[in-house]
Amino acid sequence: MPWRVMPADRKAGKRPDPYAVWLSEVMLQQTTVAAVRAYHEKFTTLWPNVAALASADDADVMAAWAGLGYYARARNLLKSARAVVHEHGGMFPITYDALIKLPGIGPYTAAAISAIAFDEPSTVLDGNVERVMARLYDDHTPLPAAKTVFMDYARRHTSNDRPGDYAQAVMDLGATICTPKTPVCGICPIQSQCDSFCAGTQLDLPKKTPKKPKPTRTGIAYIARREDGAWLLETRPEKGLLGGMLGWPTTEWADDPVDAAPHSTNWTELNDHARHTFTHFHLILRVQTAWLPADASPNRGHFIAAETFDATSLPTVMKKAYTLAAATLRHV
Ligand code: SF4
Repeated sequence: MPWRVMPADRKAGKRPDPYAVWLSEVMLQQTTVAAVRAYHEKFTTLWPNVAALASADDADVMAAWAGLGYYARARNLLKSARAVVHEHGGMFPITYDALIKLPGIGPYTAAAISAIAFDEPSTVLDGNVERVMARLYDDHTPLPAAKTVFMDYARRHTSNDRPGDYAQAVMDLGATICTPKTPVCGICPIQSQCDSFCAGTQLDLPKKTPKKPKPTRTGIAYIARREDGAWLLETRPEKGLLGGMLGWPTTEWADDPVDAAPHSTNWTELNDHARHTFTHFHLILRVQTAWLPADASPNRGHFIAAETFDATSLPTVMKKAYTLAAATLRHV
């Protein structure tokens, strides 16, 4: 993780870049380190500091974020960058209490940034740390109710001397050694204190309250090209799923979507559907395609010339629909 400062370097006085730490923590919300690494590099290359990001064009940032999912994070990232520049003189606030006031920064992220970037003794509690605490104390209280109990345990261990190193160590322990299915207790540095290791209950923990099954919603994506090859796209409303992202015009995503074609024409429905899972529901997106005349005047959306259209900047579900439709809308 290129945004990390190793304990020896930290001891020698090297400080982490708060911008790089903040970026990594926002990206890591709901996303794995493996997926984040390339995005982090892209963002720090395009916008090397918080001032550069704050003055970036919204559409460029949303396009650079495409594929990372949970797009509200990207919108909040921009709002936060602008708040840091306009309200904090371009310097990240140091304390948990100040960090948590920035848009999109919740308790875990505020604690992680203040501990990792500023060596503040804030207690981090992500899924990895919850697992370590449940096992360390052999606590069978089910999540999410157990969160406050696990936070109490985690506070007991938070270091006042090296909070940054501690926060990263306990998260890494959960991510690499105390893993969900195959904890490597044989090399675990806290094995001698671990109650679940003694009891042999590691694999039963943490307990979780069963989740309700996700509902399935349906929608229709309208993918159209004009005679000159331009694609009809639409910027989604700021509020709601994929807010502010560029995508195909679609119906509402509901049990029984009502037709909302952006242009009156003969739409052809494809046999295949784009399928995607969001946090709270599965989506089956039917795909309809059409060629539109040169003077087409759609009731929503705007045309993007074939030369400037970049399918890779679309959110994943829109890319899936594009992949299905591309062959039938080849421009010759
Ligand atoms: Fe996790 Fe095993 Fe270490 Fe306990 S001994 S903290 S179960 S890896």
